[in-house]
Amino acid sequence: MIDFSSDATAIRDAVRGRSVKAVEVVAMFVARAHQANAQLHAFHEILEEDAMAQAQAVDAAIAAGRDPGPLAGVPVAVKDNIATRVGHTTCSSKMLANYRSPFDATCIERLQRAGAIVMGKTNMDEFAMGSSTEHCAWGPVHNPWDVSRVPGGSSGGSAVAATASLCGVALGSDTGGSIRQPASLCGCVGFKPTYGRVSRYGLVAFGSSLDQIGPLTRSVRDAALTYAAMAGVDVRDSTSANTVVEDPLGELEHSMKGLRVGVPHQYASQANHEQVNTIVQRAFDRLKAAGATMVPVDLPLTDVGISTYYVIAPAEASANLARFDGVRYGHRSAPRAGDTLDALYARSRGEGFGPEVQRRIMLGTYVLSAGYYDAYYGRALKVRRLIKAEFDKAFTQCDVIAGAASPIPAFRAGGMTDPLQMYLCDVYTVNTNIAGIPGISVPLGCIGVEGTDLPVGLHLQAPAMADAKLLRIARMVEKLHPEAARPPNKYATH
Ligand code: GLN
Repeated sequence: MIDFSSDATAIRDAVRGRSVKAVEVVAMFVARAHQANAQLHAFHEILEEDAMAQAQAVDAAIAAGRDPGPLAGVPVAVKDNIATRVGHTTCSSKMLANYRSPFDATCIERLQRAGAIVMGKTNMDEFAMGSSTEHCAWGPVHNPWDVSRVPGGSSGGSAVAATASLCGVALGSDTGGSIRQPASLCGCVGFKPTYGRVSRYGLVAFGSSLDQIGPLTRSVRDAALTYAAMAGVDVRDSTSANTVVEDPLGELEHSMKGLRVGVPHQYASQANHEQVNTIVQRAFDRLKAAGATMVPVDLPLTDVGISTYYVIAPAEASANLARFDGVRYGHRSAPRAGDTLDALYARSRGEGFGPEVQRRIMLGTYVLSAGYYDAYYGRALKVRRLIKAEFDKAFTQCDVIAGAASPIPAFRAGGMTDPLQMYLCDVYTVNTNIAGIPGISVPLGCIGVEGTDLPVGLHLQAPAMADAKLLRIARMVEKLHPEAARPPNKYATH
């Protein structure tokens, strides 16, 4: 039997083995999601009826003797910037408050074909801009370990849904850390695949050269399972990689003999929370005891990532968000007598976008403007190349690069009002996207902060297209940290 401590792989096994029906699984998770949502606010919409209909189809396939797929009966919580035919796709923005997508994102189509069930849409920082899931038009999301703290962001709702077992697996998007950072702050697994591995078709674009869809899950094997069902070339996304996807599940349990773990001293910064450094060091000690070799590597451009990212991402966002003008797409302000078209655009965008999104659009427009393009955007692209080269060099010495996913654990809601301070939280995750390589956050267990247990994740990065290998190494780390399997007390189930 399954319970709320089950991961998606166990749910899938139970459904396929007919010990539970998909409709029973959905009913179970939907009820828990409704109950917990009052406190955690992970979901914007719980799509009970649609989910039940999808579950009935899975059960019918099983009854008819058809293969229900590798994710049979697994309820999926979908970040609200991924297009689904069912429910709304709002990006947690007033701009898209009433938007219903006429199509499914490719990842959704593929997951459903694998037997998964879309059970709801999760809250996020508006248009995926933020690291706390406080900048959400429908109100903030709360960390299940301490509801006075943030869950991280921007995929905060998905991280909470996965961690507190409000779903089987969750989907997020990661442009500069939005899967890995909330996974670290909530204590679940968060995997950003190599750029181009998962089709972006149906993902509302933020920074198109950085965006990637990935899973947030309770186990590494669930991350591998979900990734395997979504990955691969898609004719509708010209940036999707047309290379064979290595099966991440086949050798997941094999430990890697001779594993070389690259440790940049830049990642153990004094600016990190002291206990974050301590628990990361403990992970290194365990890896070493398990036979891995720790290799010092040098990533001197680590700090420069923030300024590079916060030029490139807003530049791309300013172009991508231009379509939301109240005429072609998005919220339209009530017309006023004597309105010019420009006035209507300006008012619609002023009303539809929140302050952080407006800030990014202005920043992006500025760095792309004729007089400043070379000084900012052009230069950021050059630094991007250097960052990529720096990783390439480091990966000649090691299989994986490891460090904290976030310099600090979950902080108090409302406790970080300076946007620059918030941007600095992304110091260890943005360069992964800048270089286009895969990254994953694996829970290490908790540290005690002001009387509360707060989870910390280990961030692992691997060369482009080494996703299967990265998942294998993540599985090793997971096995070395059995204490990290403990769910948040209030949401504990066993
Ligand atoms: N926190 C980063 C930002 O605010 C990353 C967001 C993301 O990955 N979508 O832009």
